[in-house]
Amino acid sequence: MSFSNLKEIYKQIILEHSKYPHNHGIIDSQYKLEMLNPSCGDKITISMNIEDNIISNIKFVGTGCSISLASASMMTNELKGASIEEAQEKINNFLNMIMGKEFDKNLLEDSIALENISKLPARVKCATLGWKVTEKILNNKERDIVE
Ligand code: ZN
Repeated sequence: MSFSNLKEIYKQIILEHSKYPHNHGIIDSQYKLEMLNPSCGDKITISMNIEDNIISNIKFVGTGCSISLASASMMTNELKGASIEEAQEKINNFLNMIMGKEFDKNLLEDSIALENISKLPARVKCATLGWKVTEKILNNKERDIVE
């Protein structure tokens, strides 16, 4: 498979997630946070349930560009069912990929489709928004809803 085909597949995966987002919605939970990416106008709200150190459910709602929505959709898929430590490792790994640093492909599922965003600096904040919201919740056990 040539590189250009692979990129086409990546585009398809991103498009699918932005059109038909997974885990879309809001959970009535104390673990809920909204963040903004002012450079593009993206807004993502993440809510989750944490039971026995496991992310038992995670959902998102948002408005913005297809990269930010697709990335949040992929993230919810990949972190649902993970322990807090596993989720933090996956988030760090994803952020490393987007920042063009070394990363472990085995820790990624559909989100590997965003690999080339590292070459598009203007879109980095779009791709990382949902993951950063979740990171903040996990690090701080955020209880406030920013509106
Ligand atoms: Zn964006």
